[in-house]
Amino acid sequence: MFDQPHYAALGLGEIYAKVMDGERLSPAEGETLFACPDIFAVGALAHHARVQRHGHNTFYVRNRHINYSNVCVNHCRFCAFRRDDETQPGAFTLDKEAVLARALDDDGHPFAEIHVVGGCHPTLRLAWFEDLFRSLKALRPKAVLKAFTVAEIHHFARQEGCTEKAVLERLKHAGLAMLTGGGAEIFAPAVRERICPEKISGADYLRIAGEAHRLGLASNCSMLFGHVESFRDRAEHLCALREQQDKSGGFVCFIPLAFQARHNQLAEALSLGGEDKSAPQMLSDAAAGLDRLRVIAVARLLLDNIPHIKAYWVMLGVKTAQAALSFGADDLDGTIMEEHIGHMAGADAAQAMSRAELEAMITGCGFTPVNRDALFNTLPATGPGESA
Ligand code: SF4
Repeated sequence: MFDQPHYAALGLGEIYAKVMDGERLSPAEGETLFACPDIFAVGALAHHARVQRHGHNTFYVRNRHINYSNVCVNHCRFCAFRRDDETQPGAFTLDKEAVLARALDDDGHPFAEIHVVGGCHPTLRLAWFEDLFRSLKALRPKAVLKAFTVAEIHHFARQEGCTEKAVLERLKHAGLAMLTGGGAEIFAPAVRERICPEKISGADYLRIAGEAHRLGLASNCSMLFGHVESFRDRAEHLCALREQQDKSGGFVCFIPLAFQARHNQLAEALSLGGEDKSAPQMLSDAAAGLDRLRVIAVARLLLDNIPHIKAYWVMLGVKTAQAALSFGADDLDGTIMEEHIGHMAGADAAQAMSRAELEAMITGCGFTPVNRDALFNTLPATGPGESA
């Protein structure tokens, strides 16, 4: 089925053999895959690895995203979501009742996952979230509570004057089961300095994720790509996640986050020529779609110890997310219901998707839909009369 001489001609002969034998690829081989001009050859290898692990099963979750506030003390240059304070146009901070109302907005079919994330808010304190989480769990005890980027955990530790471990312990006690995986961006220090200089370092991201795993909290992990990073930065980022997973386990799913190039400082600087655009992946819109598939594929091939690779339809767009299922992805995320972070930066996908639409996306590409919770426990398929 594979055209082996073609892989040899592409300079991928050894990589091909390793993938067929289930051997681990090196960071340099990851970089080679990113630079390969034939993304369909790379995608076919990734699809092979995906089918080996998951067959044609493709996961989705009936979930509810709740962004509690976009007020943030940080100034990440790629971020169109943040506001300085409540007086700025577009700023919002939900009160407890508003958060709970969103969790209950489920047509009588409770969400399997409640996903709570916001900015690093200057005055909302950890005790407020502990109370909120206890109330959420009282209202929806079966929903897996997934919340916070690693950057928010670090922010709480600074606010409270304690360790991140102490923050995580308190949140776990209040009902938290899992971290969202956000805040990773790109670990390469020079790029991080350019796109999010105030954010925790890559080393701190990995350290805090490891603390969470050791406490029995699961987490996802992520990479923001398509801005000023190089192929080497990407490969090294993925391999750093893989190394952490070897140490602590606990990463459930990898989420490639495509940079949304609107309404943020970094996009403006790039369009004005104020930033170096020489990175090879700074592509036209059309080519950027293919690059997104390439990232999914290389992630599947490098991350041999992270079970799931997400095609996050909000950031990728529905069509690219569907194509990604044949490039190594095995998960589409979920119903979402309300998304602000990507949309404020120009994501043009819908804000929500019904279960029926997600299942149609999956079956339309020849895959088998599998309903799941946040931890990828399998749940029953759509119930009678259930529409969302
Ligand atoms: S990405 Fe997160 S931490 Fe950075 S400015 Fe935006 S909301 Fe704040």
